[in-house]
This record gives sequence, structure tokens and C-alpha cells, in this order.
Amino acid sequence: MSALDNAISLRNVTKLYRDTAAVKDLSLDVKPGEIVGIIGHNGAGKSTTLKMILGLITPSHGTVHVLGRDMAQEPVDVKQRIGYLPEESSLYDNMNVVEYLTFFSKLYNLSRPLAGERIDALLNSLQLNAGEKLTIELSKGMRRKVAIARTLLHDPELLILDEPNSGLDPLTSFFVINYLQELRRQGKTILVSAHNLFHIELICDRVVILKSGELVVCDRMDAIRQQLGSRGYEVHFRADESLDYPDEQGNYVFRSDSIGDIATMLETISQNGWSLVNLAIRESALEDIYVRLMTDPPVDPGNGRG
Ligand code: ATP
Repeated sequence: MSALDNAISLRNVTKLYRDTAAVKDLSLDVKPGEIVGIIGHNGAGKSTTLKMILGLITPSHGTVHVLGRDMAQEPVDVKQRIGYLPEESSLYDNMNVVEYLTFFSKLYNLSRPLAGERIDALLNSLQLNAGEKLTIELSKGMRRKVAIARTLLHDPELLILDEPNSGLDPLTSFFVINYLQELRRQGKTILVSAHNLFHIELICDRVVILKSGELVVCDRMDAIRQQLGSRGYEVHFRADESLDYPDEQGNYVFRSDSIGDIATMLETISQNGWSLVNLAIRESALEDIYVRLMTDPPVDPGNGRG
């Protein structure tokens, strides 16, 4: 597969602001139909990367190809095939939701009937029963959903979403995350930045971790776990005698990364006539791995190419 067959292809991209690099020598491919998550601390370079992919800012060095076209050539046709949800999107307060979306459908040159059909479908699938409400009257979650609907109006094949869950309550967040999975099932390619690592882990085919503008990891979640995670074991048991620190149910928990320790503990339980309640395996969550990566020395990131 050549770089031009990818939905997104960045080669050695650097963005300098004065002499500080917001993004450093970043190479990354996103294949058609993939959902890729991009995570990193505040100021890691996530938004800068997304804006360079969209052609909103120009890289200081390196090349960006999107849907087979060089973004340095400002290809208008490609931009029309992308849906971009910025980190913060302001809505026009004096319009109701349907008016607002109709206004944008005109900018996308959609015919009236097609616009009406799309707006109805989007309000329906995003569970936005607020078509007649002024956008200023909406809650934060509803406003975010309107912004998402606007991003999807022209049925783009590539979605660039900057923190779609920002400021949303857990239920609305889950709704949006499930909706992204549905969009992927419809064949869309999605690059999404987020701070909620649990969501990223849940839906993404591959995860990119940026640290101070540099790519530190780019891989599938199972490969990241294998390379950087750890597997731990827990034995939950009940003892007749009183030991230190039982949990709320009166059970005791023994934890170890060593299967040998676990075997010894199971023997101890058996020899003492205690009862085994549960034996559990705990894989590292993306959050654990992320915290370790942010505090530990660098690892070999791979080349960012799927
Ligand atoms: P957050 O999670 O806080 O949104 P981020 O990972 O999206 O952060 P960026 O917004 O890409 O980070 O910023 C990366 C770095 O570039 C930061 O140090 C930021 O201060 C700097 N930066 C971003 N935009 C500009 C600009 N227009 N001028 C100067 N520096 C900038």
C-alpha cells in the first residue's frame, strides 16, 4: 500500500512556533475505514496535528497527504470530503437548531430536499429532539451534538474530531462514542483526539500517544498492552481466621504479577481450609500505560504506519 492509498499520511511533519516545536518529525498513516485515537497531555500537539491534516495550518517541514492529495496544494475537493469537529465550536445563538443546520447545508451546496432529509436523519440518530430550540437555549451536551451534526451534514468520508466528548456527562459521552462506532460501521475513517482514555481504548483500532510534540507510541491496543502493559492476577478468598484488611464483603484479596506467587497462595488457601471466592486476571488499562509512559524514559515508538 503506498502512502497515497492511505486516508491520511504524514511524513516527517514538524510545526514550529517561533523556535519551539509544537509537533516534531511526526510520521503517521491512517488507513481507510480505520478509527485512530490520538492522546497526549495538554499541549502535546494533538490539535496542531489535526489542524495540519485539515490544511488549516501549514507544517514548517514535512508533507501531509489526505485522501490521496497533498494538502500543501490546498485541494478544495478534498476539504469537502472531510468533516471537522473543532475542540470548541461556537454556534449562532439567534438561530434554532434546524435553521442553523440548514444554514450550513447551504454552504455545502446541498439541495433543499437533501438537506431536509439529512437534518432529520441526524437529529434522529443523535437523539436531538430540539430542532425548534434556539442554540443558546441548549445544554452543553446538546450543543456538542449539534456541532457533531454540522460536522456530518455533507456526509464526509473522513472525520477529524477534536475531543468530541469535551464537557459531556458520562451517558452523553457513551452515546457519542457508540455513535462513532456506528459511523465507522458505515465505512467512515475517523481520527479522534480525546482525554478520556477508556473511550479511546474501547473504540479505536490504533492509538497514537504524543508527548511534547513527539510520537511515543502508535499501535493496536493489544500490541501496546503486550509491549508496554503488564498482566496481574488477583486471588479473592475467605479465611476463617482474622487477617489484615478484608474488603467490604469480608473477603481478602491477594495480588501479584507472578503466577508462581499465585500458585503458592492457592496452596496456602487450600492447606488452611479457606475458601476461594474468585481468581481474576487484570490487564493494564491504556490509562496505566499512559501514566507510566508520561513519567518514564522514552520507548521505541514504531514508525506510525499501520
Ligand atoms: P490540549 O490537550 O490542551 O488541547 P494539544 O495537545 O491539543 O493540547 P496543541 O494545542 O496542539 O496541544 O499545542 C501544542 C503546543 O503548541 C503547545 O505548547 C501550544 O502552546 C503551542 N501552540 C499551539 N498553537 C500555537 C500558536 N498559534 N502560537 C504559538 N504556540 C502555539
